[in-house]
Amino acid sequence: MVTGNFALLAMINPAEVDLWYLGIYIDAIEWVEITNTRGMSQFADGGIVGTKPYVSSANYLKKMSNYCDSCHYDHKKKTGKGSCPFNSLYWNFYDQHRKTLEKNPRISMMYRTWDKMAPETKENLLKQAEYYLGRMEEL
Ligand code: SF4
Repeated sequence: MVTGNFALLAMINPAEVDLWYLGIYIDAIEWVEITNTRGMSQFADGGIVGTKPYVSSANYLKKMSNYCDSCHYDHKKKTGKGSCPFNSLYWNFYDQHRKTLEKNPRISMMYRTWDKMAPETKENLLKQAEYYLGRMEEL
């Protein structure tokens, strides 16, 4: 979930994500791996398997794991130095894919939240995401 979430938020080509999973897991079998990657993880099958992209910000990762406790990034920070990349990339992902996703009833609430944010907050989140997307190798 964590690596797939990150790959989707970073908008990495699903074909590259497939290759990565096939390369790192010794027991990865193509027909199983591709179904999971394209369908469940990367929402790249046109919505056949999943009804919405499986993405999350740091809140969910903090809730479901203890990774944040010892992380270099601050899960509570959305922008600025030390902010968790999952936070700004999360909103950037929704903003970038609005046309495709906003009519999805399982997601529309996220757009209502996004629309209620102050323009400056949204701008800072998008700038932060752009900053991280330009420095993927350094994260
Ligand atoms: S704070 Fe660190 S461990 Fe927690 S979600 Fe962000 S990058 Fe992951």
